Parts: sequence; structure tokens; C-alpha cells
Amino acid sequence: MEECIFCKILKKECPGHFVFEDDSVAGFLDNHPLNRGHTLIVPKKHYDSMMDVPDDVLSQLIVTTKKVGIQVCNALDAAGFNLFQNNGTHAGQVVPHIHFHIIPRFKDDPLRFRPDRKQAAAEELSALKEKIIAGNGTGLR
Ligand code: AMP
Ligand code: ZN
Repeated sequence: MEECIFCKILKKECPGHFVFEDDSVAGFLDNHPLNRGHTLIVPKKHYDSMMDVPDDVLSQLIVTTKKVGIQVCNALDAAGFNLFQNNGTHAGQVVPHIHFHIIPRFKDDPLRFRPDRKQAAAEELSALKEKIIAGNGTGLR
């Protein structure tokens, strides 16, 4: 099977513009940025998504995401940043190697990530809540 593009970038077999690297995690610039400084944080070992990444690797990923997010904001004088993380093709994941997107935000930039929503009925939320709690296999919160 063809190796994933992020594994190739990590092995330096494909170009990557790295802004961070340690033994287990790397950060490089997205080549189709949503905004200036759009950065991807990835584990060096391949895991498809949140569904299969071990907890210790995920912890390293999120701590690095915080560190690099602040670094990018400071360096580019960004006003804040959004974090995106897609799991599965139906959730918009295109590269099946778990990653966090750091999207720097600038005052008055045109990006908008708030689709229209409508208020849910309380009964619907109650039924959903029970179903989700049952989903942990114990029925306990
Ligand atoms: P996702 O849709 O969450 O899987 O996001 C994948 C991201 O990887 C997209 O934002 C792409 O622009 C980015 N991407 C894909 N190939 C490369 C590459 N060779 N170098 C840098 N970023 C890439
Ligand atoms: Zn990979």
C-alpha cells in the first residue's frame, strides 16, 4: 500500500517546511493554508486518527499543539488561533495520519467557521444524552 504523504514528509522523502520537531512529534506548514501560518502537528509514528492513537501520543500531540500555536501567534502577530482535527473521511479527513490544524487568526480576517444552527428541543437532548452515556458500555456517566 502507498505510504501516506505525512510519513513521507516526516522521513524527508517529500518536502516539508518544519517549524517544530522532537523525538515523537513534528509541526510543518500546510501547503494549502486556510490562513497565513496554517500549521499541522503530527505524531512521527503513523496512526490513522483519534480512533486508534494511544493516549500518551495524543497527550504529546496536544501539548505540542498548544506550544506551537502560541509560537505561531507570537511570531506572526496573530490575534488567536483555531484548532481543527478531522477523524474519518466523512468528517473531512483527507490525509489518514492523525493531525491537528493550527489556524492563526488575524484581526478582521475573512475566515468564518460558524454554519447556521437551530436550537435543539430539550427532549431530544435528553434522549441523546442517555444514548451517549450508554455508549460507554457501562451506562454510567
Ligand atoms: P485533513 O483534511 O484534516 O486530512 O487535512 C489535511 C491537510 O494536509 C490539508 O489542509 C492539506 O492542505 C494538507 N496537506 C496535504 N498534503 C500536504 C503536503 N504535501 N504538505 C503540506 N500540507 C499538506
Ligand atoms: Zn503516515
